[in-house]
Amino acid sequence: MAKKEFKAESKRLLEMMINSIYTQREIFLRELISNASDAIDKIYYKALSDEGLVFNKEDYYIKVTADKATRTLTIEDSGIGMTQEELENNLGIIAKSGSLAFKKENEAQDGHNIIGQFGVGFYSSFMVADDVTVVSKALGSAEAFKWESKGADGYTIEPYEKDTVGTIVTLKIKENTEDDQYDEYLEEYRLKSIIKKYSDFIRFPIKMDVKEQKPKEGAEGEFEEIVQEQTVNSMVPIWRKNKNELTAEDYDNFYAEKRYGFDKPLKHIHISADGAVVYNAILFIPENTPFDYYTKEYEKGLELYSNGVLIMNKCGDLLPDYFSFVKGMVDSEDLSLNISREMLQHDRQLTLIAKNIKNKVKGQLQSLLKDERDKYELFYKSFGRQLKFGVYNDYGMHKDTLQDLLMFHTSKEKKLVTLDEYVSGMPEDQKFIYYASGESIERIEKLPQTEMVSDKGFEILYFTDDIDEFAIKMIQSYKEKEFKSVSSGDLGIEADAADKPTEAEENENKELFEAMKGILSGKVKNVKASKRLKTHPVCLSTEGELTIEMEKILKSMPN
Ligand code: ADP
Ligand code: MG
Repeated sequence: MAKKEFKAESKRLLEMMINSIYTQREIFLRELISNASDAIDKIYYKALSDEGLVFNKEDYYIKVTADKATRTLTIEDSGIGMTQEELENNLGIIAKSGSLAFKKENEAQDGHNIIGQFGVGFYSSFMVADDVTVVSKALGSAEAFKWESKGADGYTIEPYEKDTVGTIVTLKIKENTEDDQYDEYLEEYRLKSIIKKYSDFIRFPIKMDVKEQKPKEGAEGEFEEIVQEQTVNSMVPIWRKNKNELTAEDYDNFYAEKRYGFDKPLKHIHISADGAVVYNAILFIPENTPFDYYTKEYEKGLELYSNGVLIMNKCGDLLPDYFSFVKGMVDSEDLSLNISREMLQHDRQLTLIAKNIKNKVKGQLQSLLKDERDKYELFYKSFGRQLKFGVYNDYGMHKDTLQDLLMFHTSKEKKLVTLDEYVSGMPEDQKFIYYASGESIERIEKLPQTEMVSDKGFEILYFTDDIDEFAIKMIQSYKEKEFKSVSSGDLGIEADAADKPTEAEENENKELFEAMKGILSGKVKNVKASKRLKTHPVCLSTEGELTIEMEKILKSMPN
C-alpha cells in the first residue's frame, strides 16, 4: 500500500508544531476530546431529525483509555465517524487555502497565533505521540478504515474491521527523553486532571477505567484493586452554570477549548436571560485581531445552540457588523431545532436576542473604557477600525451607538483620546473640533496647516486611518461642536479675519500669484497670500466638503 505524502504545506506546519509551538503539550487531549464531542454532536443532531436513527442517551460517550504496557492512549467516541474520503481530507491537510501564503507575509507573527488560526487541533497529538492511528466507521457506511501516520512523512489508509459507528484515535506515546517527560500521559490521575481542566463541560460523558482500592471482603484490613468505569467530567455546560461558581480561568479555558482564538480573551460576558426570551450566552471580546479579520474571508457569528444542541456554527444574524469581532455562543430553549438559516433571519426570538447582545457588548465596552482603560486601548488597537467602519456604514445609522467608543491620537496627548475627552478639554473660544489627516502622526505633525490651530492652543485630532475622516463626516458634530479639517479654507478662528492679508499685500504679489496659477493650472484653483503660515512657505487648503486626504482616498479606490 502506497504511503501518501502530506501536502507540502501541511508538512511544514506539522514540523513547526511538533517543534513545540504549543507550550503546553497537555492540550492535545483537549483537542481530541473536542473532536470526539463535535462528532457526537453531529450524530446526535441527525438522530433528532431522522426517525430512522434510534439512539439512547447511553449510546453517546467518549472513552479515554491508557495502557502503560503498550504505551498507548486511546480516545474512542460514538460519533458520526469518517469515510475513507473524509479521513483523507480532514486529516491529510492542515493548512487551508491561502493561510500559508498569509503566513509568509507575516513571518514576524509568533507561532502561537499562526497555529491557532489554522485549526490544526488533531495534529497536536504528534506533540506527545510518534505514531497515531485513527480507526473510523462513518454513519451509513458498511466499511471501516484505518488512517495511520508517524508524523511529518505522510500517512496510510487501509480498510479495517470495526463493528460500530464512531472513531478510535490511538496514540503511541513517545518515550521519555532526558529533557522531555511523556510518561505522565499514561497516568490515570494526570489524564483525569487534564480532562477536568479543559473538558469538564463537554455534554457527553468522558469515561475512564479508574482503579480503586476497596477493602477486601472477608479479609479485615486488606485491600484489593478493582477497576471501575467512571465519568470524569461534570457534563454541565459552562453556560448553564452559575456565574459565581466560575473563575476567570474557566472562561479562558472555554475560549481556548472552543478555539475562539489563541489569545486570552480581554473580557467575557456571561448572560443568563429569562425575560421575554430565555437564553444563556457566553461572549468574548478577543485581544488580538484574527489574521483575516479585515478581509472578505472573515465570517462573523456566534455558535447557536437550541437547548444544548449545536444547530449552527456561525450565526451571523446575532451580531451587527460593527461588533463582528465578538466570539462566543448562545443557547436558547425557545428556538426550534429544525430552524433553517432563512427562517432564522425572521425569527422574532433571535432578533430579540441579537438586540440584547448588541446592548450588552456596547455596555461592556463602555465600562472597559471607563474602568480598564489599558485593556480598552488594547481592544481599540485591534478592533477600533471596525467601530469606525460601523459609524460610516449604513449612512451613519449606528453613530449614536458607537461614537463614544471612538479614540484618536491628538496634537496634545501622546495617548488616545475620546471625543468626550477632547470636547471637555476645549477652551471657551474654541468653536470647532479640529482634525488633520495624514499617513502617519509624524507626517501630520509636519503639515503647515496645523500651525495656526496649534498656535491658538487648540488640540487637533490626528486621523491616520483611511476611514477616519469618512466616519467623522457621518457624525458631523459631537456635543454640538462641528468637526473641521485644518486644511479647510475657513478655520473659524477669530483672529483669522483680523489677520487677513491687506489689499496691498495681495497686490504686491499679484503677478507672482498669476504666474504660479498658470504653472499649476488644473491642479489648484487659486493662489493667494495667507497669514496662516508661520514656519512654512506654502500650504494647500480646500474649499467645500472634501478634504485633500479624502480626495486621495476616493481616487485610489477602484470604481
Ligand atoms: P477542527 O476540529 O478545528 O476542524 P481538527 O484538526 O481538530 O480541526 O480536526 C479536523 C477534522 O477532522 C474535523 O473538522 C473533523 O471533520 C475530523 N475529525 C477529527 N476527529 C474526528 C472524530 N473523532 N470523529 C469524526 N471526525 C473527526
Ligand atoms: Mg478540532
